[in-house]
Amino acid sequence: MPGAADIEIPSSRPSVGRFAPSPTGPLHFGSLVAAIGSFLHVRKKGGQWLVRMEDVDKPREMPGAADSILRTLDRFGLEWDGAVLYQSRRTASYEQALHMLQEKGFVYGCTCTRKEIAERAHMGLDGPVYPGTCRVKKDGHQSERAWRFIVPAQSVCFADELLGEHCFNMAADMGDFVVRRADGLFAYQLAVVVDDAAQGVTEVVRGADLLLSTPRQLVLQQALGLATPTYLHLPLALNADGEKLSKQTLAPSVAQADVSALWIQVLQFLGQAVPRELEHAPMAELRAWALANWLPENIPRHAARVVVQL
Ligand code: GLU
Ligand code: ZN
Repeated sequence: MPGAADIEIPSSRPSVGRFAPSPTGPLHFGSLVAAIGSFLHVRKKGGQWLVRMEDVDKPREMPGAADSILRTLDRFGLEWDGAVLYQSRRTASYEQALHMLQEKGFVYGCTCTRKEIAERAHMGLDGPVYPGTCRVKKDGHQSERAWRFIVPAQSVCFADELLGEHCFNMAADMGDFVVRRADGLFAYQLAVVVDDAAQGVTEVVRGADLLLSTPRQLVLQQALGLATPTYLHLPLALNADGEKLSKQTLAPSVAQADVSALWIQVLQFLGQAVPRELEHAPMAELRAWALANWLPENIPRHAARVVVQL
């Protein structure tokens, strides 16, 4: 089971980064930050930048959003390597991973309802901590059930490239988490781990809202015998009310926005000192400057409010 080891990537391994949007709506400023941040971070090293469409949760998908996201990336000069990987076509690989977890005893079936969990669970770092009710109750007959991963008793640590060392007591603060939902859909945590490995991803750069997902992904990687990439969590962009920019908080789409103006705003949000003379430069020039001058150490460590000028 996972210990507290930090993972070192041998320098001979070519860098592979990725941007993994969920097509629940068009790109907004926050997702553009993740796209540009992950792009610059890996391309600066001469690595590959992949795009993966995280459409595993079909009921939450917005029709047309996947294509809109790809067109927007294209408009912003974010050219990806290889073909886009669609999670909706990856079910067989997720099945295989779940099967392996079942064989090795890392998961158990859970028949608890939301209500039952809410009654017994205490609040953790990221929602209610599942109290482990079904860990012991071997209910082999119920077919309508979720599959939960047994989190380790000892703490799980990793060194974020920007935020430094983080340790989590998963048992107390998160609980056994779902890898396959009762409705049969695979959970984000499992799909991400299987796909990051399948795509040879060596560095994950994404928003800090996913920091709490990282220990879950580390323990899954260890259970499945997969390599662990490095992680860098970018600061979250907040709206004027201090809420995370998202579809729920009605963050405006950047699909039609002025590309150069948005590039500059994203670079400034990421702490990059864009020279004044580039203020009206075309996108390709901004991108070239950003690639040549990318300084990840200047990225702010904290979430910040942004008033996005579209
Ligand atoms: N699909 C996730 C999201 O849009 C991101 C997954 C990741 O970068 O690991 O929030
Ligand atoms: Zn249960």
